[in-house]
Amino acid sequence: MNVSIEQAADLILTGNIVAIPTETVYGLAADAFNIQAVKKIFEAKGRPADNPLIVHISNMMQLKQLVSEIPDDARLLIEKFWPGPLTIVLKKTAEVPDIVTAGLETVAVRMPNHKITLDLIELTGPLTAPSANISGRPSPTKPEHVEEDFKSMIPVLDGGPSLIGIESTVIDLSEGSLLILRPGYVTFDSIGSVTGKVVTHANPEGASLLKSPGTRYTHYKPRANVYWHNTSLPDQPAGSYFLFHTTQPEITGKNFFFYNQDYASLARDLYDHFRTADHLGYSQIFVEPFKNSEKHPIIPALIDRIRRAIA
Ligand code: AMP
Ligand code: MG
Repeated sequence: MNVSIEQAADLILTGNIVAIPTETVYGLAADAFNIQAVKKIFEAKGRPADNPLIVHISNMMQLKQLVSEIPDDARLLIEKFWPGPLTIVLKKTAEVPDIVTAGLETVAVRMPNHKITLDLIELTGPLTAPSANISGRPSPTKPEHVEEDFKSMIPVLDGGPSLIGIESTVIDLSEGSLLILRPGYVTFDSIGSVTGKVVTHANPEGASLLKSPGTRYTHYKPRANVYWHNTSLPDQPAGSYFLFHTTQPEITGKNFFFYNQDYASLARDLYDHFRTADHLGYSQIFVEPFKNSEKHPIIPALIDRIRRAIA
């Protein structure tokens, strides 16, 4: 069921959840201060309670309501990248319910770059929203994907397809250092040059994994098995779906896609391909590996999501 901005605001202010568009992926949103409403998000998604949510805001007054201090690095990053695909983890105020942060003393906050959702948040106040998919499924980048997972149970605010198509960069600034918990469209290099500081990556295999509970869980996975395409394999099994970005091999057909180094479009379409391959009954998805010589801001995030789909 599609709803208008005003209907979405009414639903949220009366304790319901609504799917909302953002430039990264669609979110499943509730009033961040309404514990019963936030509970509905965890129930609908089947999301483990120890996986905290990102709070979406539309202005800086709301940030002050959510976080107890805004360090200088955060100010620089906000100035440069908000509204946009950068989530910042900071120390939370007492006002933020524990259910939102899974009991952590920090809260993840982002200002999305999507006019419709910014207008909505002006009416509702801060919205807490994970991706609007059943836990473990690929994130939704179109309203149809939300319906695929939730049927007609979740009202959808249609804002067209998500333009980036991959989840936000998450950076933890709550302890003084700059620690990337999840790569996204905003890169290590750009964060380093804006702050003039060293940026560390929380290695998914490393100890700092504990800091971002969500990264423990399976994510972004279609039902088909995902593999890096290995050209030394003589034949790919029947029932395969192919995503190439740089070299165009001798494969053609409706199960073959070539992006000609348009990495931004590949990122925008990736989860849609995962879902389409599942619909059409493919059992393998082969993705061309990225070489070090290929440079584009979205490539590290693409590699991260594809690796997780392979895992
Ligand atoms: P999703 O909304 O499904 O894209 O997931 C949000 C991501 O942000 C997950 O990986 C969470 O673990 C992470 N996250 C949310 N809040 C925090 C926090 N307070 N500290 C660290 N990571 C967080
Ligand atoms: Mg998610």
